[in-house]
Amino acid sequence: MAKYIFITGGVVSSLGKGLTSASLGRILISRGLHIRMVKVDPYLNVDPGTMSPYQHGEVYVTDDGAETDLDLGHYERFTGQPTSKKSNFTAGRIYWEVLRKERHGDYLGGTVQMIPHITDEIKAHLRALDEKGVDIVLVEIGGTVGDIEGLTFLEAIRQIGLEEGRDNVMYIHLTYVPYIKAAGEVKTKPSQQSVAKLREIGIVPDALICRSEVKLTDDVRKKLSLFCNVPVDAVIEEKDVQHTIYELPLVLAEQGLDELILVHFRMAKPSAKLQPWRKLVDTIINPTRTVKIAVIGKYSELQDAYKSIFESIYHGGYAHQAKVEIMKLAAEEIEEGKHLDELKQADGILVPGGFGTRGVEGKIKAIQFARENNVPFFGICLGLQCAVIEFSRNVCGLNGAQTTEIDKATPHPVVCLMEEQQLVVDMGGTMRLGAWPCALKKGSKAAEAYAAEKISERHRHRYEVNNKYRPAFEEKGLVLSGLSPDQKLVEIIELAGHPWFVAVQFHPEFKSQPLVPHPLFKAFVGAAIARKEKAKS
Ligand code: GLN
Repeated sequence: MAKYIFITGGVVSSLGKGLTSASLGRILISRGLHIRMVKVDPYLNVDPGTMSPYQHGEVYVTDDGAETDLDLGHYERFTGQPTSKKSNFTAGRIYWEVLRKERHGDYLGGTVQMIPHITDEIKAHLRALDEKGVDIVLVEIGGTVGDIEGLTFLEAIRQIGLEEGRDNVMYIHLTYVPYIKAAGEVKTKPSQQSVAKLREIGIVPDALICRSEVKLTDDVRKKLSLFCNVPVDAVIEEKDVQHTIYELPLVLAEQGLDELILVHFRMAKPSAKLQPWRKLVDTIINPTRTVKIAVIGKYSELQDAYKSIFESIYHGGYAHQAKVEIMKLAAEEIEEGKHLDELKQADGILVPGGFGTRGVEGKIKAIQFARENNVPFFGICLGLQCAVIEFSRNVCGLNGAQTTEIDKATPHPVVCLMEEQQLVVDMGGTMRLGAWPCALKKGSKAAEAYAAEKISERHRHRYEVNNKYRPAFEEKGLVLSGLSPDQKLVEIIELAGHPWFVAVQFHPEFKSQPLVPHPLFKAFVGAAIARKEKAKS
């Protein structure tokens, strides 16, 4: 039977609960424990797949095709373990399931209620993570204590404490200890009130993790301990990290959070093996070179919309001891003729995935710039589709070439819907999702980067390269370097005679880890460095 750790958040949102949970996952794995991680979101959408990046940031995709919360990306990057459909569920999914059972008559005429029916469903979803060999299930509860929609979830995790026994369950509360400039001191009151709110529900935290901009003095720790009813050594400080988010596991381990957990669960394990992680942080802090990558996004102002893309670019840099400066350029503004100077400064250009019309012409313009000026280019999903459109219009002379996502009446639908997508009406969970195999062409840039002939990558899109145009593309020097094993789908394209111009229909950013940078990001950043260093010499 697995033990449970529940991580709740208090005072304000955006405290980095996902990063903290992921870091905790890392240090537990480093102690030789087998863990599973799950993010619970108390909102009513069935999954985040239909939500706008403005609302929710990136939608992270698992191998088994779930569209999930971006925190799962942190989990995978920090722990190196794949997540799955089970690793994220929302209130919407729970209600959906309960209502389905009610319609089916499963409740045998009983009144269906928040307690026990909704809470039972939540508990069943959490217990599904307790698979054979799992020592600890780490549960991150989304939102902030005090939110109405989170109440049933807190009630469910309180019940698990009762049912499993308090020795087998640990509650960790992430809180904020603000520094008030005018008073020249930090304040513990918001944390006290947030813990009081938890205790009202019947949850007494076993540890506090305190986000703060400044160091906590012993007096502050004692005060937090006394008023929040948590032992003083269980008051963990999480000051803003100086250089990189990847310092966080080290910060938590230094204060003995892993030991605290093992003592609580009466488990004995050898000390944490964090050497590779220390080496990683050392590489990040002491780069030997720098390189500039331009990312041409529709949501250039939103940090979270391209979370995994940015992280993967940094990982690509780590592989070369390089610090990557990312220039976030708004595709729409490129369309208006802006940012040419920035494009000229870039050592590499990346066009990420996206949906809809806005910014597409700007992305196409940036790709044309990369192609004509031999700037390393990496296109991802919509980025590949834009590269195909650009090549069709400007190299193959297919005037008006377009994706049918934007123009159904285009004379040259070079990107279009496959038959199985044409009848789809529901928006949620109906794209080509999850892991698909891909065969690489020998001698291509892609095959060289992966050093493999067959790969598997995660997808999230409806539209595909139109096979009708393949001969025209190949004749003009577009290499179809990755195809589905049945040859029916174009998964990777590249340009013959260009230093590094590779675009993929899948999302490699979902599989990059700081300790294992994704081969394509590594090769792309490598090509950008090579261009920069060649220009210097
Ligand atoms: N909008 C495109 C499609 O649905 C690309 C999707 C993406 O970039 N994830 O095919």
